Parts: sequence; C-alpha cells; structure tokens
Amino acid sequence: MKRVVILGGGSGGAVAASRLGKWGRAGEFEVVLIDRSPWHEFRPSYLWVALGKREPDAIRRPLSLLSQRYGTRVVQATVTSIRPEANVVETDRGAFEYDYLIVALGSELRWDSQNEGCEAPWELDFALALRERLRHFSGGRVVVGPLSWPYRCPPAPFEVAFMMKYLAEQRGIAGRTQITVFHPWNEPMETFGPQMVEGFRRFLNDFDVHFEGGFVCDRHDRERRTIVARDGRELEYDLAIVVPHHQPPEAVRNSPLAASEGYMDVALPSMQSPRFSNVWGIGDVVAPTIGLGMAGVFAHFQAEHVVSQIIDRERGAYLGELYNMVGICVMDTGYMGAAVWCNFTDKLYGRAPYPDCRLLGGMRAFRAVKVGFERYWFANLFGE
Ligand SMILES: Cc1cc2nc3c(=O)[nH]c(=O)nc-3n(C[C@H](O)[C@H](O)[C@H](O)COP(=O)(O)OP(=O)(O)OC[C@H]3O[C@@H](n4cnc5c(N)ncnc54)[C@H](O)[C@@H]3O)c2cc1C
Repeated sequence: MKRVVILGGGSGGAVAASRLGKWGRAGEFEVVLIDRSPWHEFRPSYLWVALGKREPDAIRRPLSLLSQRYGTRVVQATVTSIRPEANVVETDRGAFEYDYLIVALGSELRWDSQNEGCEAPWELDFALALRERLRHFSGGRVVVGPLSWPYRCPPAPFEVAFMMKYLAEQRGIAGRTQITVFHPWNEPMETFGPQMVEGFRRFLNDFDVHFEGGFVCDRHDRERRTIVARDGRELEYDLAIVVPHHQPPEAVRNSPLAASEGYMDVALPSMQSPRFSNVWGIGDVVAPTIGLGMAGVFAHFQAEHVVSQIIDRERGAYLGELYNMVGICVMDTGYMGAAVWCNFTDKLYGRAPYPDCRLLGGMRAFRAVKVGFERYWFANLFGE
C-alpha cells in the first residue's frame, strides 16, 4: 500500500483527502493528513462571522471527520521541514515518510504589532475581534485594504467595504460614515482585466465607496489613527480593517521546493514539483508562483487533478479530472450578491495578459448561492 502524505487540511488538503477516499479503492492508499489545527475552516464565511451571521462552529468542522468518513489518518502536528530528496516530512510530532506528497500549506499571515487590533477577518479570531469592534461602531471614517499583494481572495476587501456600507445603512449611520478601500492596485481588481475594473468601479460608485488606488502602505500610525502610503498620502480613520501581509509557509520557504519568492514551484498543468516527481503543490502555497490569485476554488480543482495523477500512476490507468483553470467567487455585498467568474487558462499559459472574466450580478439570488455553496462544501467533504 502506498502512502500519500498531505500537508494542510484547508481547502486544498481536505479536498485531496476526500478525493483519495472517494476515488481510491480499499487497500490502495494509506492517506496521512497533517495539520497543526484540529479544524477545517471555510474561510469565505469569516466575513459572516465578523458580521454576526455565523458562529465559529457553523463554519468549521473537525478534521477528524475525514478519518471517520474515509479512513484518513489525521495527525495534528506542525510541519517543520520538508526533505523531498529523502521523501520525508518532519513535524513537531515526529517524521513521516511518503511515497507521494501533496503540499497544501496555504500562506501565512505575517504578524505585525503595528496593526494589532485592526486586522481584517482573514483568520477566525480576527473575525471575532472585528465583530467586537463593530459593537461600538457608530459612524465615521472606515478604511479597508491590504498592506500588500498577494493576499487570500482578491475581491474580499471590496466585499468587506460593501458589507460595512450596508451595516451603516441598517444602523442609520450611513450619513456620517465614509468608506474607503485602499489598495496597491491603481484600479479596483486591476490584475483581472478591464471588464472587472469596470464592474468594480460601478459597484464602488453604486455603494458610494471611495477607492484610493496605488496606495502602497508604508506605515500604520496607530497613535494618529492614520495609514500612510509610500508616496506620502495619508488616510485617517475611525475604524481600520487591515488585511495583514501574507507570506509563504516557513517549512516551504526553507525547503528545496521553494521558488525564488519562497512560495512553492510547480509545473503547469500538473502542479508537480519540477525537481521531485512524487511531490505536488496546490492552493495558496503555489498561487503567486504560477500567477494566480489565492482562492479556494483553485485549490479545489488542483487537488482533484493531482489525486487523479496519483491514482493513474498506481493503478495503471485512471480517467480522473484535468486541471480546470476556472475560478468562481460569489460575494455577499449586503444589498445583494454578485459573482465573479474567470477562466485563467490563457493567462496561466502566457497567451493573455488577463484572465477572461465576467462579473455576474448584482442580484439578491447570489446571496442564496453563497449560502448554498457553504452547505455544499461541508456536505461534499464530510458527507453531511
Ligand atoms: C475573508 C476571506 C474570504 C474568502 N473568500 C473566498 C471565496 O469566496 N472563494 C474562494 O475561492 N476563496 C476564498 N478565500 C480564499 C480561500 O479561503 C483560500 O484561498 C483557500 O483556503 C486556500 O486553500 P489552501 O488549501 O491552499 O490553504 P488553506 O485553506 O489556508 O489551508 C492551509 C492549511 O495548512 C495548515 N498549516 C499551515 N502551516 C502549517 C504547518 N507548518 N504545519 C501544519 N499545518 C499547517 C493550516 O492550519 C491550514 O489548515 C477567502 C479567504 C478569506 C480570508
């Protein structure tokens, strides 16, 4: 029996484990999933936790459910080093050898004491902290934006801004609330091409949200409640919702799997390491290297393609899943919902400067789609 080790039980890792469980035959693979957290969290719903529509247990499941459903061996441990030349992964709870390795460690948020207490809901505890801050929010200047790019879910800071606008209206404080999205991009959703720029400009206009583009954050002056850009522009605020810096996971950064920026190097479309033929990378840990935004939908489709290759190799032949280079992101804008659909195929192969994108919406029906997708996610992985 071959051993497949999966590092990370987030979007990519949990899908990989479930597909190996569903598509593999009894006795074909021993699947070991290693994560430092006991939970699988559905990160898109952090926004609903922050806005009081969900409690933490509604948007996470114990990873141990993968053991019950598929026989996955779930190990709660921190990965400290990856040694692909020896087919070994080291953790704080011992070393694990593998025949096949799937790296799905995502990206890490870089702790930055300057921003302490202003973090955007990009982790569950930050989402709960924002909910507490909103308890006392009675209007004023709200600034939302990322300290740097890339970060998880490119449209999400805009979604937060639209939700804040909606909350302000519901509280009757919209007249004394001004919302600004600051961003290193010159235009909203710039890297997604002109159609998206146009669509997001329209949304910003409709919701009366100001966009401060080309804003590369230099420092956060917490005493003056001001965010300062490298070009000297200053944004004063009463409420700051700041997306922290993201960085590659340390274990990947320090391994031979890393590309120059520290995220993992992979070949397209296989997602296989160019140096180690039994190692693959999926999700946020590879997104910057191949030129994708960080999104769970990418991790999901990549996981299915990688699992297909592993079963194909072992079984002699297996017709599985190709890498579907499409991404869909559904947004709850408070007033209504909208969906972004992008095909990245030509962009990833260098044949086009931008993905081919459509902005669908806004209709209230998309909010229902978002709720439906959250349900589907847990049902599909954990068989609820
Ligand atoms: C607010 C918000 C909204 C979003 N909305 C959307 C959306 O609408 N659509 C969409 O497609 N995506 C969305 N995303 C992005 C999506 O959640 C991520 O892109 C996705 O989770 C990436 O999956 P992943 O498997 O690569 O990494 P992750 O899901 O981040 O999983 C990584 C896992 O690795 C574990 N780990 C990390 N380091 C170690 C270590 N050293 N040892 C052991 N375990 C470790 C972590 O605990 C984690 O469980 C959103 C994200 C946020 C924050």
